Amino acid sequence: MADSLNSIMVLPVLKYGHPVLRKKGVRIETIAAEIQQLVADMFETMYAARGVGLAAQQVGQSLQLTVIDVRGVKDRPSQLWLKGHEADVASFMPLVLINPMVKPMGKPVKGAEGCLSFPEIYADIERPGEVDVIAQNERGESFSFRAGGLLGRAIQHETDHLHGILYIDRMDSASLDEVKEELAQLQAETKQGLSASRAR
Ligand code: ZN
Repeated sequence: MADSLNSIMVLPVLKYGHPVLRKKGVRIETIAAEIQQLVADMFETMYAARGVGLAAQQVGQSLQLTVIDVRGVKDRPSQLWLKGHEADVASFMPLVLINPMVKPMGKPVKGAEGCLSFPEIYADIERPGEVDVIAQNERGESFSFRAGGLLGRAIQHETDHLHGILYIDRMDSASLDEVKEELAQLQAETKQGLSASRAR
């Protein structure tokens, strides 16, 4: 029996300074084999980097697609509600969100965030504590839920990526000031790499 997927690959994660990270993702109308392959490769990439979420932009595709799995994090709780009832987070993972619509709920909460496109750069970011989400899964089925804690934060961070928004845009000026030099260096390295690959 033929496997519909090619071999699953760890993809290169684009770093800050790459223009695709600022591109708004295109809505996915048909979940074709290429999208299924991309989803599988994105999970592989995210797990290899020990991340909790990865957006399509981070692997060079400006699409409304992100993958999330918070099970690897034991010290930061997540909450999930399905049809108004609290539900088990682990059994809801891994999570594929296609064309997600996210509505912020609840009071703003500060929490630490990093990003695979910004290695070693962490800051506290204030975001709404919970979100209501409507999205499609990898089979094109619509589903909805409410998420809080780490999961709610990861969803907001990843869906920001789908609109070309980065966590540095959400940092307060003091945090941004602290990482300013690292950001400038990372951006310069990325741009240097891009012009070197163009020159080849
Ligand atoms: Zn990120």
